[in-house]
Amino acid sequence: MSPPWSKPLDIDRLADGEADVDFAVPLAELSRLRAQIASVEGLVRGRVHFTRESGFVVADLTLSGAASMTCQRCLEAMSESVASTARMALIVSEADANRVPEHLEPVLAADGRVTIGELVEEELLLALPIVPLHAEASDCVVAEEVPAVKVEAPEPTTQKPFAQLDQLLKR
Ligand SMILES: [Zn+2]
Repeated sequence: MSPPWSKPLDIDRLADGEADVDFAVPLAELSRLRAQIASVEGLVRGRVHFTRESGFVVADLTLSGAASMTCQRCLEAMSESVASTARMALIVSEADANRVPEHLEPVLAADGRVTIGELVEEELLLALPIVPLHAEASDCVVAEEVPAVKVEAPEPTTQKPFAQLDQLLKR
């Protein structure tokens, strides 16, 4: 049986009912995301609220979770927390895209249908880095280069629990 987030939903019905749809989507199953970021794993949870605005069906998406990816510097696993909100205008044809107000993000819902997975994927393609890297080169799991001059104090290798929070706040 296909999971609920992969089922095409009728966007007009969702908007008429001002529906709230809760979801939990495993990232490894989003094919476009996986095509962009190989070996992406993890889970995001959240809610989509459907309404209408400016003649469009609007999906208010809130999601949070963690994505596990391969660091492109050291090729070891790294995890990045994701917390994101988006206000998407669901358009039925590409031609409608230029009528979408600037504060809404146009997302194609061909035939008036969309899956929750497509909305989540659209947002994650923007939110996640195309080239995932550990926040600091020193976080990478690589063999230390032999320093030309011997340093007395070893490099601190303490964890930086707030590095990711910093990134989140900058968004
Ligand atoms: Zn790394």
